[in-house]
Amino acid sequence: MAHTDQHQCHVLCRSCDLVVQKRALPSPVRALCPRCGTALYDTPYCSINGMLALCIAALIMFFPANLLPVLEIHFLGSIRNTTAFQAAIAVGDQGYWVVGVAVAISAVIAPLLLLSSILAQVCIAKFALHLELGKKTLRMLLKQQGLLSQLTMLEIYVLSFLVSAFQLSDFADVHMGMGTFCFTMLFLLLLFLQREYNLEHMWGLLDDN
Ligand SMILES: [Zn+2]
Repeated sequence: MAHTDQHQCHVLCRSCDLVVQKRALPSPVRALCPRCGTALYDTPYCSINGMLALCIAALIMFFPANLLPVLEIHFLGSIRNTTAFQAAIAVGDQGYWVVGVAVAISAVIAPLLLLSSILAQVCIAKFALHLELGKKTLRMLLKQQGLLSQLTMLEIYVLSFLVSAFQLSDFADVHMGMGTFCFTMLFLLLLFLQREYNLEHMWGLLDDN
């Protein structure tokens, strides 16, 4: 990252230490150091319609991902399956309720809140940015954004069930069904959504209006 000073109007080139005045750039343009050509900064940009599509797709995946079993284990004639939320409750039932709560928050609750929040932000940006209530709501959502994205840890959950499936496959039949597919898709959609999302750009929308 190029260093920016407190007033955000100068950047320091990280290669040659030249101080460059920051200027507003048109959309897909990147500012380069005039002395050595190092990339200094981009315009914060996110595609509102792209985010809307990713958000809706992720919300469609969210419900089957959480209602259908992510793993089905056939062991000595007995069949066990579990959804993300049941897994959290099962961990809690065994006395590890802190872990259970952490799983429920990071794999179920936070992703849903994050998706709803981004969907609301996108809708406000598209339709209600001229309204005072829209701006107020957007400001409130943006303040919570950092916390929600830190709490969302679907990747850990996806990794953990893949690892357990791999370990269990030696002595039990492990089936991955529609739930596994939906959960993995949800994880990928959220990954792309968070890549597309740019907090600085969203704050910028508020300042411009
Ligand atoms: Zn330079």
